[in-house]
Amino acid sequence: MAVVAIVGRPNVGKSTLFNRLCRKRHALVDDLPGVTRDRLSASIEYGNRRFLLMDTGGFTDPDAGTFAEETRRQVLLALEEADAVIFLADARTGLHPGDQELVGLLRKSQKPVFYAVNKVDGREQEKHIAEFYALGVEKIYPLSAAHGLGVYDLMDDVTASL
Ligand code: GDP
Ligand code: MG
Repeated sequence: MAVVAIVGRPNVGKSTLFNRLCRKRHALVDDLPGVTRDRLSASIEYGNRRFLLMDTGGFTDPDAGTFAEETRRQVLLALEEADAVIFLADARTGLHPGDQELVGLLRKSQKPVFYAVNKVDGREQEKHIAEFYALGVEKIYPLSAAHGLGVYDLMDDVTASL
């Protein structure tokens, strides 16, 4: 089965997107940053495709290092296992140096990567999307995982790549 991984800095909304796509409460989502404890995956059917969707960001080992190191490690792991990757950034915090670093890792891969900016809940956040093109990517998918906006435009392209 094809594997699709969701990666990104802590608290950008990976688990929220994962949950929306699962429509199950597999992943732990909370208002506290970094609360997701486990890397989880679920078999998803979208369009006519079935694939394994993988949430990342589990911070299981308190000795694992900093969030930055751990996130980096999980991105590399996801790249090994996944057939396609969804990279998520956060419109509310704006472009972050950590985003640039992770995108650098992703770009080395031959696998399809889809760059999405989450928390675009309305007009106010739409203004901030342009700055993410500084990542040097061809296409940005604005979305709101919490409200479901833009999620299916992204997933149409993700599933088409599998
Ligand atoms: P993760 O660490 O990347 O898995 O992020 P979470 O899914 O745990 O979400 C982190 C925080 O962002 C939580 O407080 C979510 O409610 C919030 N969040 C997630 N998606 C959205 C969104 O589309 N809009 C807004 N405003 N907040 C969101
Ligand atoms: Mg999470």
